[in-house]
Amino acid sequence: MATSIVSARTHAYIAQSGRCIYCGAPMWSRSPEDFAAAHGISLVDAGRFQLTAEHLTARREGGSNSRPNIAAACLYCNRMRHQRKAPPAPLAYQAFVQKRIAQGKWHPAHLHKKVLRNQSA
Ligand SMILES: [Zn+2]
Repeated sequence: MATSIVSARTHAYIAQSGRCIYCGAPMWSRSPEDFAAAHGISLVDAGRFQLTAEHLTARREGGSNSRPNIAAACLYCNRMRHQRKAPPAPLAYQAFVQKRIAQGKWHPAHLHKKVLRNQSA
């Protein structure tokens, strides 16, 4: 990745207090091992909470790597959004994710308690 997107991602990560813009989960950027240990989860489970640079306007729709277009999202939310044929608008997707979380249907149930509701992380 080019420096600009890494710096945009770091900027967003700090601005969002280290939490995913969609699901609100804490994220890790360097050490999945530390993250897994801190939350008492497996390394595989930690994988989905990796910090990614989320393009608010998708690259294929002309979105750039500059700060205004980059948010910090966990790998899972990022992937799920861009798997869609037409990625939903960020706010619509955030509302969708929040609804799914309330229904216990986003991250697996055991991660809700250990990661999503762990406000101390
Ligand atoms: Zn997320």
